[in-house]
Amino acid sequence: RLDTYGFIGLGQMGYQMAKNLQLKLSPSDTVCLFDLNKEAMSSLAGEMKQSQAGGAAVQLADSALNASKDADTVITVLPEPSHVKGVLELILTPDLPNRPRLFIDCSTIDPSTSRQVAKSVTDATSGSSHFVDAPMSGGVVGATAGTLTFMLGCADSLVPRTEPILLRMGKRVLHCGRQGTGLSAKLANNYLLAINNIATAEAMNLGIRWGLEPKTLAGIFNVSTGKCWPSEINNPVPGVIETAPASRDYAGGFGVSLMRKDLGLAIQAAEEADAKLELASKAREVYEGAEKDDKCKGRDFSVVYRYMDGKE
Ligand code: NAD
Repeated sequence: RLDTYGFIGLGQMGYQMAKNLQLKLSPSDTVCLFDLNKEAMSSLAGEMKQSQAGGAAVQLADSALNASKDADTVITVLPEPSHVKGVLELILTPDLPNRPRLFIDCSTIDPSTSRQVAKSVTDATSGSSHFVDAPMSGGVVGATAGTLTFMLGCADSLVPRTEPILLRMGKRVLHCGRQGTGLSAKLANNYLLAINNIATAEAMNLGIRWGLEPKTLAGIFNVSTGKCWPSEINNPVPGVIETAPASRDYAGGFGVSLMRKDLGLAIQAAEEADAKLELASKAREVYEGAEKDDKCKGRDFSVVYRYMDGKE
């Protein structure tokens, strides 16, 4: 069977994901690429064609609609809710040939926009096509290595069709429930991460000011009840964990503006569900402040350690 994929959004994540997907498909399959950034498209197509390992045929489209026309599966990896909504509006037109399609959206957006878009796909195609949410974790490193974890929101019946596609770009697919729940899981996780990161930065700062040696303190947290991903893997204090962004001037990692974005989406989704978040607005102030601060902006989100204490 020949498979044709449309791939829309070739930024930091999508570029690497499309590369892994194309490489793992067979030469009888096709991947049709589209991004507003023409350079990203041609550079990726060049890399794909140079690869000696085979892989699917590559085409470049001049619009999201044209990338989707022949596709059985359309993957979107776009920045914000408005982009996902806008791109699907451009695709779901009378010019789109009638055939069943699976739309897999890997963008981190809010669940309610995702549900609206899913409904527009069902309505426009009389139920023959489906839109599933599959936000991911693992960052650019995971996207490049093909080790992403996807949180999938879709009907049980769509899992067997969707999972093998995602496994070409990642190593784990967690089916969370009906459409939209992948995003709910992702935003709940990132809310916890946002708070744990700030709490770790504060607790480290506190202990250091009390005279504790940073590595000793982190070592104590990590065998005690304060242990969390920011204390153990992504410690915000320079020099504590050699491989953490903090030890290379907070370069790389998960950008402070992406954390601010995800926290905003979590707050919006919490309001819609009438769920009270006591710590959210303070956390948002911290990430928004760090994003605007010259010594923090563009850096890993653990840079809040530097921001909150006014450190240089
Ligand atoms: P990015 O900004 O690097 O890439 C987005 C791409 O979409 C750009 O190339 C842009 O030109 C393209 N684009 C925007 N509007 C478009 C349109 N209308 N039509 C076609 N292309 C369009 O973003 P990213 O870092 O790749 O992130 C993508 C999504 O993945 C976001 O929702 C982000 O929150 C999520 N995510 C990112 C990371 C990460 O570490 N970067 C990790 C997990 C999840």
